Amino acid sequence: MLIKTLLNKVERFKSFVYGSVCVMLVGSTEALVIDIEPRRNSRPICPECGKRRTVYDRQPQRLFEYLPVWSFKVYFRYAPRRVKCPAHGVKVESLPWGYGKERMTFSYQVFLSRWAKRLSWKETADIFETSWDTVFRAVKSVVDYGLAHRSLEGVTEIGVDEIAVFKGHKYLTLVYQVNAGARRLLWSGPERRVKTLLQFFREFGPEYSAKLQFVCSDMWAPYLKVIAKKAPQALNILDRFHIMRKFNEAIDEIRRGEVKQFKANGQENVLERKRWLLLKRPENLSEKQTARMDELLKLNLASIKGYLLREDFQRFWEYQRFDFAGKFLDNWVTRTLQTDLEPMKKVAWMLRRHKPLVLNWFKAKGEISSGAVEGMNLKAKLTMRKAYGFRTLKCLQIALYHELGKLPEPECLHRFC
Ligand SMILES: [Zn+2]
Repeated sequence: MLIKTLLNKVERFKSFVYGSVCVMLVGSTEALVIDIEPRRNSRPICPECGKRRTVYDRQPQRLFEYLPVWSFKVYFRYAPRRVKCPAHGVKVESLPWGYGKERMTFSYQVFLSRWAKRLSWKETADIFETSWDTVFRAVKSVVDYGLAHRSLEGVTEIGVDEIAVFKGHKYLTLVYQVNAGARRLLWSGPERRVKTLLQFFREFGPEYSAKLQFVCSDMWAPYLKVIAKKAPQALNILDRFHIMRKFNEAIDEIRRGEVKQFKANGQENVLERKRWLLLKRPENLSEKQTARMDELLKLNLASIKGYLLREDFQRFWEYQRFDFAGKFLDNWVTRTLQTDLEPMKKVAWMLRRHKPLVLNWFKAKGEISSGAVEGMNLKAKLTMRKAYGFRTLKCLQIALYHELGKLPEPECLHRFC
């Protein structure tokens, strides 16, 4: 029969053969059901030890969902055997096309999970006439497999980052590998406390932790503490992206304060819709935006003073020499502390307090790309935006591993998509 011939081309299982094919109702829809039988004289595999053992008995037939054709759902129908293993007792046999309890075949899981990378989960569910929950379980299963089978060899540079989730009410700590050519999300965990990052190092293990050479992070005290304790040999770098983010937070705070004051005094809000002008680097502004920025620069605003202090600080990153950069930093801090811009002064105090770690940037210069953590952070935020519908943190974490983890997939004989 043609269907069997085709199936044998794309998915051939050693020790099993395809049997009859029929169209029948599954639930309330017509589906293609393909029987599978064990090859004669073949013995089932114990799921614990992977050895072939004798048959104990046979369970009722079950359906395993396979890739749809011509918008018909397709199922394999098979009655799993139970094995009698001298070491592990009576167990349901291990099957090459799916896990015991899961109703989807591996191929279908990988198929849905690949589409869910290109489309949103909701779109994937709609197109293949399945539920959001099914897509979620497919992705989760592929991610779980990937996490269990990935290699952590060669991880010598990591970046610790946090993103605000669920409208900023919660944080997720993310750890990326930032080695050139091998950037990926390694780990994620809720909150951003000492115990969060300790959990990462526990799972990462002392052996791999000892191989870390560079750790980029924010100046968030709990992170610094754990990094110093768990990877003392690594150079902890407060990287450009994280530091400049502090500047932007400060500018934004000043801007909000000024806007509030305009309102209180009944003045015109000259900062209306100017937020991005202040947060972007001048070279990234469009022509029109540059013109608007020039107008703004003429005004004597605290936000502008903060903006100019940030732009002035950008020179810091251009220094070639460690000691010159250090002198520049001291000088900038002194000048800033003489202003009345409280949020900026807070940044200055932070830089002074963490000066050695900030200067570590220059020790690692040429080895760490300034864009590595930032690039991963952008991708994480994009996934979050696409993740519309992820109601729980767990869901979001799976989506992030799926998109950014570069995880290995269960091996399939055929690439369907
Ligand atoms: Zn066994």
